[in-house]
Amino acid sequence: MRVTAYCEQCECELTFDSETDHELETACHNCQTPVRIAFSDRILQENMVDACPSCGKRAFYVQKDFNRNLGLGIVVICAIIGLYFVWVDRPFLFYAALGFAVVIDTLLYLLLPEVTVCYPCKAVFRGAKRNPEHKGFDLHILDVYEGRSQGYSDPS
Ligand SMILES: [Zn+2]
Ligand SMILES: [Zn+2]
Repeated sequence: MRVTAYCEQCECELTFDSETDHELETACHNCQTPVRIAFSDRILQENMVDACPSCGKRAFYVQKDFNRNLGLGIVVICAIIGLYFVWVDRPFLFYAALGFAVVIDTLLYLLLPEVTVCYPCKAVFRGAKRNPEHKGFDLHILDVYEGRSQGYSDPS
């Protein structure tokens, strides 16, 4: 699997591959902050995420690998085309253009693969086998990791 982690200091993206980077000490290519990555046995042997190689925590959610800018871009372009049809007095085609945008967005969403994301450090895992324990995004769990709620104990 491929992992995209973020530098603690400058938040720039750091990418690793569990096939080649088993355990390593490296430094952020931007600010030189030391970075330590250690893949768990389960990641190496089963290609399944159980512990974060970047922060060591065990809280993850699963989401579609959807690029919001791309999705928004499609809608904006179709809306502009639709407005052109309004201008040339073809209102039906305006709705057709909007419908087309919705269909394309939906198709993209269905076809896109799922990614696993670490709650505490936002590292993203692509190409991993889905761990059945990981569910969709839950704001309560994020609150725990961002220190906004008390009374929860860290599950890791
Ligand atoms: Zn950095
Ligand atoms: Zn993490």
